[in-house]
Amino acid sequence: MASVTLENVTKRFGNVVAVNRANLEIQDKEFVVLVGPSGCGKSTTLRMVAGLEEISEGNIYIGETLVNDVPPKDRDIAMVFQNYALYPHMNVYDNMAFGLKLRKFPRAEIDRRVKEAARMLGIENLLSRKPKELSGGQRQRVAVGRAIVREPKVFLMDEPLSNLDAKLRVQMRAELSKLHRRLEATVIYVTHDQTEAMTMGDRIVVMKDGFIQQVGAPLEVYEKPVNVFVAGFIGSPAMNFMEGVLRRDDGQYYVDAQPMRLPIPAKKATEYRRIGEYIDKPVIFGIRPEDIDDTELMANPDESMTVVANIDVVEPMGSESYLYATVGPHSFVARVDPHTSARDGEPHRLTLNMGRVHLFDKETERRID
Ligand code: ATP
Repeated sequence: MASVTLENVTKRFGNVVAVNRANLEIQDKEFVVLVGPSGCGKSTTLRMVAGLEEISEGNIYIGETLVNDVPPKDRDIAMVFQNYALYPHMNVYDNMAFGLKLRKFPRAEIDRRVKEAARMLGIENLLSRKPKELSGGQRQRVAVGRAIVREPKVFLMDEPLSNLDAKLRVQMRAELSKLHRRLEATVIYVTHDQTEAMTMGDRIVVMKDGFIQQVGAPLEVYEKPVNVFVAGFIGSPAMNFMEGVLRRDDGQYYVDAQPMRLPIPAKKATEYRRIGEYIDKPVIFGIRPEDIDDTELMANPDESMTVVANIDVVEPMGSESYLYATVGPHSFVARVDPHTSARDGEPHRLTLNMGRVHLFDKETERRID
């Protein structure tokens, strides 16, 4: 069993608390992504699991074993780093074989494992090349291959795709996901890229300032972010936020965000158990760009609302267009059909899908639950 468990794990560097009382249970064979902005503590968390960083407080278990004091080489893990860390003077074969040679594996076994990993990664024809004779993507595969030959229970990956160009990154993303299914190993993967997290993780762990903010399946985090930070971090373009005051009129809740009156559909209001406590209080209203349209084709007319916005900029993306819009003091982005009739500087009708809005407490920035 290669589950990984963090129990109240804290890491301090002098006065800096890099990781603050982290609790996390990663299941055997799960692909878990730690995601968050620079400095949030994700690499430190991974390095503690690897044993490259001492834990200030708390416990880490791999399977049933408490590994706090187990040296990295005895943890049955393999790590893939951002810079690949290949030996420049060794060819691909030797780079992949090196760790096994150090551990005194028999030559035939080393040969079997290197060739099998090379086949899996499609790099059999590169085995005699030196790293400098490889493209970035090929080097990346070698770095992964070097981890695979160890046949570890847990793979730890720290931004392994960040040195690749955008197109290759997308391709390698899919390859790593496929590989994970074939290897049947536990993977802990660190990235600052929310798209990588959403597309690769069975579950994602969103971190900020050393604290775990939310743990959940990608769609769960996308649809029910626990606070304004997670709501804004997951999803691209980011969720729009507008400040207003929650009111209730004739049994209907709405957010008074002058000059807009944003009605909360009755069905939506029932999702917020404590909504009644927020009447006449400041709230943050969130709506994703994909929930604002300009075709009036919203599925449910009872749950949509139309506003006339001023379009500051139309940004065509090919498959869609982003409209940067303003209503009074509120600025927001809409993601619409690329054949939109919206023009820079002109007014344009936009429909908000109110069945998909999010409400947060203005003071704590937590989702109103
Ligand atoms: P990035 O995406 O930039 O790598 P991260 O989320 O991985 O960021 P960490 O590298 O884990 O963040 O760093 C978390 C915090 O701990 C930061 O404030 C960082 O400056 C601090 N930190 C990390 N390593 C050390 C160290 N060796 N000594 C002192 N402070 C450190």
